[in-house]
Amino acid sequence: MKLSFEKSVQGRAFPILPELDVPEKNFSPGLTRKSAPLLPEMSPPDITRHYTSLAKRAHGVNDGFYPLGSCTMKYNPKINDEMANLPGFAGIHPLQPEETAQGCIEVLYECASLLREITGMDAMTLQPAAGAHGELTGALLMKAYHDSRGEKRRDKIIVPDSAHGTNPATAAMSGYKTVNVASDENGMVDLNALREAAGEDTAGLMLTNPNTLGLFDRNISEITKIVHDAGGLNYYDGANLNAVVGIVRPGDMGFDIVHLNLHKTFAAPHGGGGPGAGAVGCKERLTRFMPELAVRTDGGFAFARPAGSIGGIKAFHGNFGVVVRAFAYILTLGADGLREAARNAVLNANYMMKGLSDIYDVAYPGICMHECVLSLENLKKEYGVSAMDIAKSMLDHGMHPPTMYFPLIVREALMIEPTETESRETLDEAIAVLRELYETAKSDPQSLRDAPKNTPARRLDETRAARHPVLRYKKTI
Ligand SMILES: *Cc1c(COP(=O)(O)O)cnc(C)c1O
Repeated sequence: MKLSFEKSVQGRAFPILPELDVPEKNFSPGLTRKSAPLLPEMSPPDITRHYTSLAKRAHGVNDGFYPLGSCTMKYNPKINDEMANLPGFAGIHPLQPEETAQGCIEVLYECASLLREITGMDAMTLQPAAGAHGELTGALLMKAYHDSRGEKRRDKIIVPDSAHGTNPATAAMSGYKTVNVASDENGMVDLNALREAAGEDTAGLMLTNPNTLGLFDRNISEITKIVHDAGGLNYYDGANLNAVVGIVRPGDMGFDIVHLNLHKTFAAPHGGGGPGAGAVGCKERLTRFMPELAVRTDGGFAFARPAGSIGGIKAFHGNFGVVVRAFAYILTLGADGLREAARNAVLNANYMMKGLSDIYDVAYPGICMHECVLSLENLKKEYGVSAMDIAKSMLDHGMHPPTMYFPLIVREALMIEPTETESRETLDEAIAVLRELYETAKSDPQSLRDAPKNTPARRLDETRAARHPVLRYKKTI
């Protein structure tokens, strides 16, 4: 497919900006660009066709099954988008005086209140833009807390080996050293290893529960107690909250800080590069370090920054539209609906696991939460068919592959998260496809190594795409 630059015809551009209706402003010469930007020039129908054909080449939740583990790619009700597009929300400007944006601040305040209730936290900021950004906020809260107590020697964050990659990255970004703690043979945090790791230099623990193996760590109260006894804080990576919303609360499991991915659990899609929101909550003893909070005042609502704040973590007030979607989602479902969504997410994952576990190896047998992890190590050994080959073959069946090669502690991992929004028929079909692929792996392994065959692009060199990304168009014509 040609790039828009290659389709560009000089003079084909059409005006996209309205006539100037404000006084013209002359910027100082150093601030203006020397030449006009190189932009493709196309007519409206050609632009429409260009982007429509691009969209058709991608696979989204609206096209078919998308069991991308850890990403919670569920169907998001369109009503949430309609709410976010209401003129009063969509047309707001962040520099507007607060008294003219009372309804919007009220939405932030009310949504934060509901999320506080859902997580069992005392304060909640909606400023961070993503999960990893929420983690950074949380790590900075930890640092501010220990510094305020004169405990600068606490320079280590404990991270289980099943953690999402953003956890150790966050610890490093915020100046901490990471200490890895192994999982035991059941996929739970090894308590003895944790006891050994926790000490006077522990700033805190970062943990997701259910973890990335899709398992709920039953020792969670003991785990958070070990860290508290050592003087550390417990950070809950709540990206996987979809499994437990309305059922358990991080605040009751002994966590002091939590981030939620509003763009996984609460009605905005993950992946695809759209805006996200990483709500961050904390317990009372940390609220004075929080970044911006929406608060209730005598006559209305306002933004406030606590006295000991770590400072603003993002320009303005976060990705407001994502918060509106989350707020609408929570209000539409209500407490019972949220709980039912979590239960169905767990049910669907177990249904798929059971439908596959007689032929595929489940990494950690037992009941899983919202996702299950298969290990294709034996398939690879016996027939030379890897997790990658199976994943690529699923594309030919109109399904997005599961997450691959993650978590790192499982070899040839496929991590399946069907989500609650898939019907039993879709799950049955996915199970049938995966079973068929297993048979093909035995009878005709080469055909799987050659997959995908029906997609716009075949196998990509993913290492090269990551190591030598071409991010800029260089004009050659
Ligand atoms: C997705 C995810 C994150 C990171 O969230 P982003 O919004 O992608 O930054 C962190 N932890 C876990 C467990 C996740 O699944």
